[in-house]
Amino acid sequence: NFWLICLSQFEKELPSQQFNTWIKPLKFEAGVDTIRLLAPNRFVSQWVKDKFLSRFKEIAEAHFSKPVTIELVLFNNGLDTNQSTLKQSVPAPKLINTNQAKPDNSRLNPTFTFDTFVTGKANQLARAAALQVAENVGVAYNPLFVYGGVGLGKTHLIQAIGNYVKEQNKNAKISYIHAERYVSDVVRAYQHKAFDEFKRHYHSLDLLLIDDIQFFGGKNRTQEEFFYAFNALIEAKKQIIITCDSYPKEIAGVEDRLISRFGWGLTVAIEPPELEMRVAILLKKAAAENIKLDENVAFFIAKQIRSNVRELEGAMKRVLAYSRFNGLAISLDLAKEALKDLLAVQNRLISIENIQKTVADYYKMKVAEMYSKKRTRTVVRPRQIAMALAKELTQHSLPDIGEAFGGRDHTTVLHACRKIAELRQTEQDINKDFSVLMQVLTS
Ligand code: ADP
Ligand code: MG
Repeated sequence: NFWLICLSQFEKELPSQQFNTWIKPLKFEAGVDTIRLLAPNRFVSQWVKDKFLSRFKEIAEAHFSKPVTIELVLFNNGLDTNQSTLKQSVPAPKLINTNQAKPDNSRLNPTFTFDTFVTGKANQLARAAALQVAENVGVAYNPLFVYGGVGLGKTHLIQAIGNYVKEQNKNAKISYIHAERYVSDVVRAYQHKAFDEFKRHYHSLDLLLIDDIQFFGGKNRTQEEFFYAFNALIEAKKQIIITCDSYPKEIAGVEDRLISRFGWGLTVAIEPPELEMRVAILLKKAAAENIKLDENVAFFIAKQIRSNVRELEGAMKRVLAYSRFNGLAISLDLAKEALKDLLAVQNRLISIENIQKTVADYYKMKVAEMYSKKRTRTVVRPRQIAMALAKELTQHSLPDIGEAFGGRDHTTVLHACRKIAELRQTEQDINKDFSVLMQVLTS
């Protein structure tokens, strides 16, 4: 965005007091071949014209790669009272991207965007649905219901929708709210007999993002209020987006009429990210902080931390902090050292034997069938799942894993990993089994 570039450029070039006095109060409006700078009063306008106009022009021409005319005008609510003549000659400008824009009550975190959201198999469906909704507010899927375990990016993704809509339409009434906070809003409205005001707010939104709706469990008055809000919004073709830690039918303590409404639109899951995606997330987060993270360090961290993205970030921060604190460059050895305590706990728990036993128990098989030569289907699938888990959860190489599964070849292990990855996309049962086993083994 051109205006942001200008601002950051001037901020770099000028002492902060000058920047705050002359540049920051400006607003900006783009025409076809002209750019208009709107100043709050004549004084600023004149000063900017004298001192900074040529620099603005340079930045603009570098940015747009063509000659650009820059006009300086006053904006309507300027403090200067002598501007009436100017005011008439200048149509009321439509203001974009200014710090004086309408107050933002959306509670959106501006860093949660689609750009910063890494996509992989685990979340591509959810992301695609989110983007559809963002581009077709109120008409694509209503409500959009996103579910998945903790730290997998639900909040990030739905706020990305909010930020996208906000960018497209500055006037959209958007509200992001955590379900717990909604509950306390209801309590407060109840105490102050202020349900009219409560309704006026929630029923007039264009986009309601409500996070972690499992917190509504057992809160009857909240559910009733939300039921009205839900109906009002859907009826008016306003968009509702909900997240939850479980599938709608599995939410405890929520009335059936709400549960069934949650399924009116589209329900999508976010799964735990696979290894490559975890690496991609680490690299992206590091790049965002201008840190050069070696790929093998990223792989190392991603291999250790499998449960969720929040912990992945936590581990990376730990490595960074360790590196800064000790004044050492980030290397594989440093990462190992920094995460030592964390890993000691995990590695003790997960061995191939442990995986074989857990999977065998889960499918009610004998452990010996994990490494027997038997090739009936009922044995082969669980065995493949166990191999895939061993690949994912331990540091053992493919040949080692093959060895532990009755002296099988490493290509058999590789085939098993691919097969399971594929089946997890197409067969709900297998996917669910895999997730449950993963959870059991890593918690
Ligand atoms: P949830 O709401 O599902 O518990 P969050 O949205 O709070 O999870 O995500 C936890 C952290 O992980 C956040 O900092 C978020 O930015 C990050 N995160 C999760 N998924 C991704 C992703 N796909 N790409 C980038 N960052 C992610
Ligand atoms: Mg969340």
